[in-house]
Amino acid sequence: MLKELFIKNNTKKKKYATIPSEMVKSEVPEGIMTKCPSCKKIMYTKELNKNLKVCIHCGYHHSMNSFERIDSFLDAGSFEELNENMISGNPLNFPDYLEKIEKDRQKTKLNEAVVTGTGTVNGIKIVLAVMDSTFRMGSMGSVVGEKITRAIEKADDLSVPFIIFTASGGARMQEGALSLMQMAKTSVALKKFSNHGGLIISIMTHPTTGGVSASFASLGDFNFAEPEALIGFAGRRVIEQSIREELPEDFQTSEFLLKHGQLDAIISRLDLVGKITNILEIHQPGGEIEW
Ligand SMILES: [Zn+2]
Repeated sequence: MLKELFIKNNTKKKKYATIPSEMVKSEVPEGIMTKCPSCKKIMYTKELNKNLKVCIHCGYHHSMNSFERIDSFLDAGSFEELNENMISGNPLNFPDYLEKIEKDRQKTKLNEAVVTGTGTVNGIKIVLAVMDSTFRMGSMGSVVGEKITRAIEKADDLSVPFIIFTASGGARMQEGALSLMQMAKTSVALKKFSNHGGLIISIMTHPTTGGVSASFASLGDFNFAEPEALIGFAGRRVIEQSIREELPEDFQTSEFLLKHGQLDAIISRLDLVGKITNILEIHQPGGEIEW
C-alpha cells in the first residue's frame, strides 16, 4: 500500500490548458489571455509563454514552475532527473502535514518542492536544482535539503558546475528544527564542493526568502537574481517593528540588493542562457574569455 505513495511521476506540467468549447465562446476565455500584474496589459498566454513568461510590454517576469524553468534553461531533451521519488515523512507528527503534502503532490504532479537532475546548457554538462514555489510555497523541509545536498554531491562526483534556481517561502514550519538543519547541511555540502574546485551559480527568483536566502541561495560563486524578485530573510513588517524604522519602498528587491553589494548581477530571463553559457565556458578546463 505504501508503495503507491512512491509511484513515479514523469509527466511534465502541461504548459497550455485545453480550453473547453463553451469557454472559447465567452468574451474573455480563461487561459487564452493573461493580464500582466505589473503593467495591467492583456496579452495572449501563448505569446507570453513563447517569451519565457516575460511580459512583452513591460518585461515583468511571471513566475515559472520547475519544469517550465528546466525546459527554458537546459538543452532540449538533456535533463535526467535525480531522486525524483523521494517524499516527506512526518517526523514531528505535525497535524495534517502528510495530507497537505499529498494535496500538493496531486496539484503539482511533483513529489517535493525541488526538482534536481543533470543536463546540458549549450552542450556543457551541469547538475541543476530548481525549486518550485507551487509546492508548499517552495518551503525547505528535509527532502528539499536532502535532494539539494545529493545534487551538490553529484556535481562533485562528476566534476561539473552546480546551478540552482531558488524560489522559496523559507523553512517548512511543519518540520521545525529539522527544516532549519537543512541550512547547515546544504552549506557544508557546498563548501566541500567548493574546496574541490567546484563552480556554484545561484539564481534567485521571486520569491527567495527565509532560511533559503540565508543558506545555499547566497552561497554561490556567482549570486544572480531575476529582475524585481523579492529576496530577503525576515518579512518587512517584522523588521520594521524590531528596528522601529520605516524601510525604503524597494527594500528586499533584487535591485536593492544589487545596489548594496549582495548580488553580482540581475539577469533578465531572456538573456540568462547566453550569460550563464559564457560563465560556464570560462570555467571549463582550457576555457577562454571572449573579450
Ligand atoms: Zn507587463
